[in-house]
Amino acid sequence: MGTVRIRAIEAATTRPEVLANPPSTKLSDFYCKNVFNLEAMEASVSPVVYKELQSAIRKGTGIEAHVADAVAAAMKSWAMGRGVTHYTHWFQPLTGATAEKHDAFFTVSPDGKALESFKGSSLVQQEPDASSFPSGGLRNTFEARGYTAWDPSSPAFIIERGGTKTLCIPTVFVSYTGEALDYKAPLLKSLHALEKAALPVVQEYFDRNVSKITATLGVEQEYFLIDKAFFYARPDLITCGRTVLGHSPSKGQQLDDHYFGSIPSRVHAFMYDFETEALKLGIPITTRHNEVAPSQFECAPVFQEVNLAVDKNQLLMDIMQKVAERHNFKVLMHEKPFAGVNGSGKHNNWSLGTDTGKNLLSPSTKAKENLQFLTFFVNTIAAVHKNADLLRASIASIGNDHRLGANEAPPAIMSVFIGSQLTEVLDELEASSTIKVEKGDNMYIKLGINKIPPILKDNTDRNRTSPFAFTGNKFEFRAVGSSANSSSPMVALNTAMASQLVSFKKAVDALVADGEKKEVAIIKVLRDLIIESKAIRFEKDGYSDEWVKEAEKRGLNNVKTTDEALDFYLTDQAIKLFTDNKVFTEAELRARHEISLEHYTMGLQIESRVLGDMAVNQIIPAAMRYQRELIANLKGLKDLGLDSDTDGLRQSIEAITKHVNTIKLEVEAMIEARKAANKLESASDMAKAYTRTVKSKFDTIRYHVDKLELLVDDEQWPLPKYREMLFMR
Ligand code: ADP
Ligand code: MG
Repeated sequence: MGTVRIRAIEAATTRPEVLANPPSTKLSDFYCKNVFNLEAMEASVSPVVYKELQSAIRKGTGIEAHVADAVAAAMKSWAMGRGVTHYTHWFQPLTGATAEKHDAFFTVSPDGKALESFKGSSLVQQEPDASSFPSGGLRNTFEARGYTAWDPSSPAFIIERGGTKTLCIPTVFVSYTGEALDYKAPLLKSLHALEKAALPVVQEYFDRNVSKITATLGVEQEYFLIDKAFFYARPDLITCGRTVLGHSPSKGQQLDDHYFGSIPSRVHAFMYDFETEALKLGIPITTRHNEVAPSQFECAPVFQEVNLAVDKNQLLMDIMQKVAERHNFKVLMHEKPFAGVNGSGKHNNWSLGTDTGKNLLSPSTKAKENLQFLTFFVNTIAAVHKNADLLRASIASIGNDHRLGANEAPPAIMSVFIGSQLTEVLDELEASSTIKVEKGDNMYIKLGINKIPPILKDNTDRNRTSPFAFTGNKFEFRAVGSSANSSSPMVALNTAMASQLVSFKKAVDALVADGEKKEVAIIKVLRDLIIESKAIRFEKDGYSDEWVKEAEKRGLNNVKTTDEALDFYLTDQAIKLFTDNKVFTEAELRARHEISLEHYTMGLQIESRVLGDMAVNQIIPAAMRYQRELIANLKGLKDLGLDSDTDGLRQSIEAITKHVNTIKLEVEAMIEARKAANKLESASDMAKAYTRTVKSKFDTIRYHVDKLELLVDDEQWPLPKYREMLFMR
């Protein structure tokens, strides 16, 4: 029989090959096949209804009942024509996962007739049992009412599962009294605030023809893929998504063939299938490649409007897990599933686009357009500078705490990388003390902004080490964790930018009112911002120790754990930012703060329990079993009179005793620390105590377990080892 581990290795290495489901047509035929997008909508409702709906989506206003009824009827027949029997409001509660409440189209009329029905009212609003979702005290349980409300800007889609099909309708999730209980509601509000702030800047300073500005997001998703037999042989992976124990493979292994090799055929088949599924759901995935670590991969869809991109990323993570099942894989979305090996991020590529087809963060060949580019570019840097701590908070999670600042990941210090060419441009602007206005293009030459090359070479590899890098025509928020819902960082960034643009415009308008020429006023304010925000710019190696020291000198925070990072949501500055922009009320912020802290504490509690259980129930018994063999061996040698040189054997026996004893003591101390922490009243105190007194034991316990892994007979080791999980597939 062997250990669970040996059986897992057998299973993983003897699987019959699972081939991809090859589509019978071209891939492009699959695109949006299962999405009730605007095209499908236009084809199935009257032109009047379609126009009204489009206008409501555009303006973010309410949907009239007759429009909702017409759309519901069209959705129903579209879906039923594709074999759909049920529908669900699909939402993103603060649990981190997506949630669904299923209902059948099937109903029985008052006169007893069976019929399929879907009314506008059911499309627009539902009332799921809200008591099972976190609210942070926003709802009393006796009034556990929450509503899901249709988000018409994100199209409905069909999910195929176990041979059944369900129509999923993206919705926000709010309490009875209107507070947001989900990720989407504040995201929509932040996008609204951002557009409201950006539009006048563009219209009044640069381009009257622009009537809409859209924030765009392209989400690069990193993940690990391991055989499911290994996954199920490890309680830590099952319950926390990461290995709390396990000796890192030696460096040599990371550098062998697997590391740079082509994608293994098993993995390829999986990717092919999930990409096809993604395409059907309107997720335009285009890239796939090996990531730096063994068994690590990445995919990136073409960017979309932020709200859509976030929905699609949530959906994608779901699809990947489901498709992986068929291929006998498990997708690890955790930020740091393996200690000592690269972690996984979710790079949020963010920009702003106009309805005239311009990317506001794209440098241009025309000097005049570059003033617009610089305006948005510099204001983004200023927004990040002013709200660095908030942005850090927005990516805080138990998993990301392990990733940030560890192998090949940006540290928990916020900084912005812009590359040498743009650094030069900003330096020049900063240095130019007098700005003279001349006519025509000459003026822009004087201003130094004619020099921005439209295509920036990605001049160094250093931007990889930055948490927030400008990459040619977009900013890339790289510090976001792989399992995160991108709404959190997007809400923080959008709102910070909205507020920044409002104050920028105020400053420019004040100068203009004093008689300054518009272009000069803009440049002057930009120059002030460049000077003000200088501390946030960092072009060198973000992974280095020097940076940690340098950042400290600059007064930049390096907040290492979630419990502390989250507090930045409740500073006066953050409360003002969010309430001024109507993204969160203070009550909502406080509720979210509490939920996030509880989430964090619960995560540490689970990790701590699993670690303790595995150490005591799996590792210690295995070590002692092996130790008994060594003792028998020693005795046998003695009996034969061959014990003249048994020092090595004795040392092994003693070493095992030492490690086992330490593990026992540390696990007991950890349990006591948990008990003490659990008695604390406030979520904040509890989270901080867990960090300080419980999490702090993890490394010691792990150290001794990992030492045992090197001592104990390989055959007897109960847990799949790193080299197996990472290299066998
Ligand atoms: P890189 O190789 O530098 O990471 P890519 O061009 O591959 O850059 O883009 C990475 C991600 O950035 C993709 O998801 C892409 O769609 C997205 N992206 C590109 N342009 C924009 C933009 N204007 N706004 C938002 N995301 C963008
Ligand atoms: Mg990238």
